[in-house]
Amino acid sequence: MSTQQPFPKKRLALFGSTGSIGTQALEVIRSNTDRFEASILTAQSNEELLIKQALEFMPHTVVIGDPARYQKVKEALQGKPITVMSGEKALEEAASLDAYDMMLAAIVGYAGLRPTLCALDNGKSIGLANKETLVVAGDIVMQKAFQKRVPIIPVDSEHSAIFQCLVGETRNPIEKVILTASGGPFLGKKPNFLVNVKREHALQHPNWSMGAKISIDSATLMNKGLEMIEAKWLFNLRPDQIQVVVHPQSIVHSLVQFQDGSLKAQMGLPDMKLPIQYAMAFPQRIPNDFPRYDFKKVSTLTFEEPDLRTFRNLALAQEALEKGGNLPCVLNAANEIAVFAFLRNRINFLDMTTVIEKTMAQVPFIQQPSLQQYFDSDGEARSFAADLIHL
Ligand code: NDP
Ligand code: MG
Repeated sequence: MSTQQPFPKKRLALFGSTGSIGTQALEVIRSNTDRFEASILTAQSNEELLIKQALEFMPHTVVIGDPARYQKVKEALQGKPITVMSGEKALEEAASLDAYDMMLAAIVGYAGLRPTLCALDNGKSIGLANKETLVVAGDIVMQKAFQKRVPIIPVDSEHSAIFQCLVGETRNPIEKVILTASGGPFLGKKPNFLVNVKREHALQHPNWSMGAKISIDSATLMNKGLEMIEAKWLFNLRPDQIQVVVHPQSIVHSLVQFQDGSLKAQMGLPDMKLPIQYAMAFPQRIPNDFPRYDFKKVSTLTFEEPDLRTFRNLALAQEALEKGGNLPCVLNAANEIAVFAFLRNRINFLDMTTVIEKTMAQVPFIQQPSLQQYFDSDGEARSFAADLIHL
């Protein structure tokens, strides 16, 4: 009798394994060792956690981005069958290895773009948490995936919801999608309040526990703007087909409206492990013991319009979505600089919008950028934004 398993284990490359998404993905792997293994783990500077993860999961390769920390990781993993890499090109080299089947793209920000492009060139499927990759160069990323015939499966909860609603609907065009937004910690607040908020307030998200950058993006609603752009590329939509609705309970994760007016929603308690495991196991659903939604506990679901006059980052992102070209890339770069400065108490909450708006007005518009022109636009926008706030 064969002792072979019905399915070979899926080998996952967790890019950003020490982050909020990365550590939750490892929890999913830990609970499903018969299905998954971690074959690549990467971190930027958290070498302690990376070493701990490597000793537990025994991957083929680990990457520590910061070269100053290479020696420590190398010594800690001495004698283990694990390759340790570091330095500027190491992420791309790791993404080009054959040692994995699917990349979980969970690096934060623009830094996630190049490794994801390498994984696509390498013919690997992608579980995409790193929305900035599609915001910066969505046309090029999607085209590469199409040419290589590899799927990009969303991990972002809203896009996972839409993806799940589309299963079985391949022949039915989308009329529109409705992205739900929790509204973040400052829902209902006005500019006179926001001008004084500190990073500690902004980092307190009511429903989700996430990395610092996305927590600030959720507080400014920039996150929802980035997600509109992400949805455009993932689902091939026009800007007017993407609507945002504030839903503070975060139970309905997003909806699709079809041409007969029917709405399909995907619902559940807010827990990123669910979209992470869905992307990892697709097309299968695997059992888990995560808490279930109980109608008796949260019996009222509410929906309202976003306040675009107060949360102007969302309006700026909508402008970038509509104009297209390199404008989303510029918006993203300026936002990364603005969030970085806010997190270091260098500018106030509302200044973030000013930095982004001025940078969008400054960097020359390019309608159909090449990949190099996206890289250049990112660089120009970063240096202009950094100069503005004397970083
Ligand atoms: P975290 O900040 O928690 O983690 C980021 C990860 O990327 C860490 O492993 C970090 O390493 C690594 N990293 C940071 N900077 C670099 C760099 N310059 N080069 C290489 N690696 C780097 O982020 P999250 O997990 O919250 O978010 C990851 C992505 O997923 C983001 O794009 C976010 O928008 C998206 N996402 C996150 C959600 C969430 O719930 N957290 C929900 C939906 C989407 P180190 O630890 O060493 O710094
Ligand atoms: Mg989201």
